[in-house]
Amino acid sequence: MEDTIFGKITRGEIPTEFLYEDEHCVVIKDIYPQAPTHVLIIPRKPIPMLSEADADDQALLGHLLLVAGKVADQLGVGDAFRLVINNGEGGGQTVFHLHLHILAGREMKEGELASRLA
Ligand code: AMP
Repeated sequence: MEDTIFGKITRGEIPTEFLYEDEHCVVIKDIYPQAPTHVLIIPRKPIPMLSEADADDQALLGHLLLVAGKVADQLGVGDAFRLVINNGEGGGQTVFHLHLHILAGREMKEGELASRLA
């Protein structure tokens, strides 16, 4: 796969504040926040998108979900957040290095996603 901005960030080639990091992933603030809290969980392994993950990535994918819960707690939004993965251009993905969005701090309306897809 081609290198991306997230590859450079996870490798430390672009100085970026990590809100959390471990051997498998880093967490950064989204540069164009869509909610008062908007952070990205980025695995160090450059999987282009969720649909290209395979069985070998099972533990990593589970880890990313657990980190999401932990980081949301640390940010004080552990009881009210939305987790989003955009997959592919048609799914709104713009950076082709898998990442999870944590969005919180505004009302996540019922049906918001459904109306966007309609
Ligand atoms: P997606 O559309 O799911 O691929 O999400 C990519 C996200 O990355 C967008 O919300 C962008 O605002 C965010 N983004 C792009 N470049 C950077 C960057 N250098 N630092 C932080 N967030 C970024």
